[in-house]
Amino acid sequence: MSDVLAVAEHRRGELRAVSYEVITAGRQVADALGGELHLAVIAGDVDRFAETLDRPGVDVIHAVANGEEFDHNVYQSALKTLFDRTEATAVVMPNSVNGLDHAPAFAEHADLPLVTDAVDVAYDDGPTVTREMYGSKVETTVDVAGDRFAITIRGGEWPAAEGVGDARIETVEIDPPESGARVQGFEEVAGGNVDIADADVLVAVGRGIGEEENLAVVEALADAIDATLSASRPVVDNGWLPENRQVGQSGKVVTPDVYIAIGISGAIQHVAGMKGSDTIVAINTDPNAPIFDVADYGIVGDLFDVVPELTERFA
Ligand SMILES: Cc1cc2nc3c(=O)[nH]c(=O)nc-3n(C[C@H](O)[C@H](O)[C@H](O)COP(=O)(O)OP(=O)(O)OC[C@H]3O[C@@H](n4cnc5c(N)ncnc54)[C@H](O)[C@@H]3O)c2cc1C
Repeated sequence: MSDVLAVAEHRRGELRAVSYEVITAGRQVADALGGELHLAVIAGDVDRFAETLDRPGVDVIHAVANGEEFDHNVYQSALKTLFDRTEATAVVMPNSVNGLDHAPAFAEHADLPLVTDAVDVAYDDGPTVTREMYGSKVETTVDVAGDRFAITIRGGEWPAAEGVGDARIETVEIDPPESGARVQGFEEVAGGNVDIADADVLVAVGRGIGEEENLAVVEALADAIDATLSASRPVVDNGWLPENRQVGQSGKVVTPDVYIAIGISGAIQHVAGMKGSDTIVAINTDPNAPIFDVADYGIVGDLFDVVPELTERFA
């Protein structure tokens, strides 16, 4: 049988959205191979996580109780143990900071070709993985030699698995190897513990805001609709909002229910981070701004007129 091993992701005691996308991607690969989908959840509150992760399409959940989050030794060792035990053909991991910390080392140990930042996988004679390069300007397809391979998937590219499944949950103990590296602790970057990737509603502000003092206009809207504030890169580069608020290729991939892009042109590197949002609203003075190509609702107008009016209606 050609089974697939997928890896869930959690941080600070919460499962991350990509965990459910990894299930969808893993199931897709397992269906192509005619095998089962095994899901690994490693370190932390794994029993609770395992129950939450029981979604349709998952056959077995392996809850690895050892270690702490971010400890790549534990991840590597757990994955190697599970890979050998399940005799999996393919491994699907998130293309996150954590995933990229352990995926290359695991792939090396397991002697698997690794394709990172995948946005699609297809099967013809063998697996073909699609990834984007040069700021999403170029799409490349990678033909994997043989059936065995590992990928890290980009967040927001596969839909999240929904519903309640009937997976077997197995608790696994491993012996992490001795290592010179140890997790010392967790320190938030400036901007507090806001994770824009977890927000249901995002108000995103771009260079069209003009100057830092004007941010109050969009903050008022975010407050009125209980949204989280995010930004395009120039706003972050100018130091007007912290780095953890940046959406896009070199920022975060977000998939909120509603994304309101204000004074953002819609450059390809920005769109790469928000195109998976359920409903996109764009406010821009330029009717030809590319952001309108991905928007569900567009308002052509000056943000300094439109945003206060919206705020007043929602307040
Ligand atoms: C390798 C690389 C990685 C990158 N990564 C990212 C990334 O992660 N995230 C990201 O965002 N960018 C990223 N960029 C930058 C990206 O190419 C764009 O430069 C950036 O997204 C533009 O930001 P913007 O839309 O806010 O500004 P602009 O492109 O300058 O657009 C401002 C928009 O505001 C509108 N506007 C002006 N005044 C008003 C007004 N009063 N009311 C309403 N609308 C108004 C204008 O019509 C315009 O459309 C990256 C670039 C590179 C090369």
